[in-house]
Amino acid sequence: MTLMGQMMQVPLLISSLLTHAARHSGDTEIVSKRVEGDLHRTTWAEVAVRARKVAQALARLGCQPGDRVGTLAWNGYRHLELYYGTSGSQLVCHTINPRLFPEQVAWIANDAADRVLCFDLNFLPLVEKLAPQLGKVEHFVLLAGRSHMPASTSLPGLLCYEELVEAETGDYAWPSFDENTASSICYTSGTTGHPKGAVYSHRSTVLHAYGAALPDAMACSARDVVLPVVPMFHVNAWGLPYATALVGCKVVMPGPHLDGKSLFELFEQEKVTFSAGVPTVWLGLLTYMQQNGLKFSTFKRTVIGGSACPPAMLRTLEDDYGVEVIHAWGMTEMSPLGTLAKLKSKHDVLDAVSRRRILEKQGKGICGVDMEIVDDERRPLPWDGRSAGNLVVRGHWVIDHYFQTEASPLIEVPGRDGLWFPTGDVASIDADGYMQITDRSKDVIKSGGEWISSIDLENIAVAHPAVHEAAVIACAHPKWDERPLLVVVKKPGAEVTREELLAFFGGRIAKWQIPDDVAFVDELPHTATGKLQKLKLREQFKDHKLPT
Ligand code: ADP
Repeated sequence: MTLMGQMMQVPLLISSLLTHAARHSGDTEIVSKRVEGDLHRTTWAEVAVRARKVAQALARLGCQPGDRVGTLAWNGYRHLELYYGTSGSQLVCHTINPRLFPEQVAWIANDAADRVLCFDLNFLPLVEKLAPQLGKVEHFVLLAGRSHMPASTSLPGLLCYEELVEAETGDYAWPSFDENTASSICYTSGTTGHPKGAVYSHRSTVLHAYGAALPDAMACSARDVVLPVVPMFHVNAWGLPYATALVGCKVVMPGPHLDGKSLFELFEQEKVTFSAGVPTVWLGLLTYMQQNGLKFSTFKRTVIGGSACPPAMLRTLEDDYGVEVIHAWGMTEMSPLGTLAKLKSKHDVLDAVSRRRILEKQGKGICGVDMEIVDDERRPLPWDGRSAGNLVVRGHWVIDHYFQTEASPLIEVPGRDGLWFPTGDVASIDADGYMQITDRSKDVIKSGGEWISSIDLENIAVAHPAVHEAAVIACAHPKWDERPLLVVVKKPGAEVTREELLAFFGGRIAKWQIPDDVAFVDELPHTATGKLQKLKLREQFKDHKLPT
């Protein structure tokens, strides 16, 4: 007969992370650069008290378990209080990306049926404009103190966050409930069709936080000073609001101030040791530092993901600035962490170039997420570092289905247990388990039956000293179906010709993969999460005639 484990059943609840941080690192600081312009300092202990007051205030507004509370906010202590105040009291924190088109913001708030919408001061005009479309929102809450409340507004009964918090006692005990209860919702950016909601649970979020903090993942410790550059409206800032509470470290929140100068000053002033963000923000920070001849004094490690980290950026950060780059891959549907690139001890004997090759990959799976690459018949492909196939995943923090949709996105993989989530990425995995993304399946360039990785070509292009940013897209070709077109933004003041750029590819990649043409543009289109918007680029260049 099966012998059952005889251990306590303590549900994995998000509130337990905050309670732990408050008890064990109560005096550890949370520093926020506010929308109001000043620098605000609080502690984990104070955040815990105020999060309980937020829970009381939301209950007083009539929120019931399961209700969604929307946020339109930058990284800051009030947003952190909302994360815990909502989820901890069985409400669902719905972070909305304010960089989306206004119509999409409204669509998402309505789809999630947000009953309360909390927003930063600078989003007041946006919310005022959208309010007539937000029929389900009963309460608008401005994340500010009384002195910043507008003298007049078109928003009905606009509430002041600080007044709501001050009116409560904080005498509130976090409830205990099923760990599978929804904790938060994030929407995918919806490059094609409407955005889709990923509904995380307390269990998935807490397990993801444990996974994220592991030494071979983000390796956060109580000794770190963490500055999440990745916004809290972008897949829960990759789990950092939870992982930092779990380890009880100091957190520095940049608010809306994400330009190179503001970030650099904050890194230095608050002695930041660890950060995380998409390649584009590092591009801005590095450009500012290069122009001003600056160096970091405390910054040691950063996670870069969301789109491929160009090897040239990895090299610059490590060699010129002494910052270890941890290349990571994940997606909204995965909470988001899937893989991170860290070396094994057996790699210590390799030369620097070979070690770098490994670090440039997207990395090894965190225990808790299983991966496979499969062919078009869904048959698993070997982990040989060469075979490329569709990447599928399953694990504790991978979605089962999207919010309010019946159809399951999951697929069966012959010979493998359970159902798998198809990521839409094409990848190879080597014998040591290091995964490398070749492309998104829709971005890969299909040239005469062979696949060309747009990421590989972009990585080469941005290694050229005159190139600021590059994108490679498929262009229709009468003979080969598709051929690569390189679209380039030059560095300010730099000059380079089409021929020079194409010659730069020689010896760096197989000849037949070299782009057919180069187009110079002033800027590239980005999505609301800072990724290249290739769909838009492909439209822009759909009539482009290749010289070949
Ligand atoms: P969206 O799908 O809304 O753009 P996600 O943040 O969920 O937002 O994006 C996930 C996708 O981003 C992945 O499926 C992958 O294509 C891409 N991606 C994320 N990290 C990396 C990386 N390190 N290298 C290459 N692509 C990445």
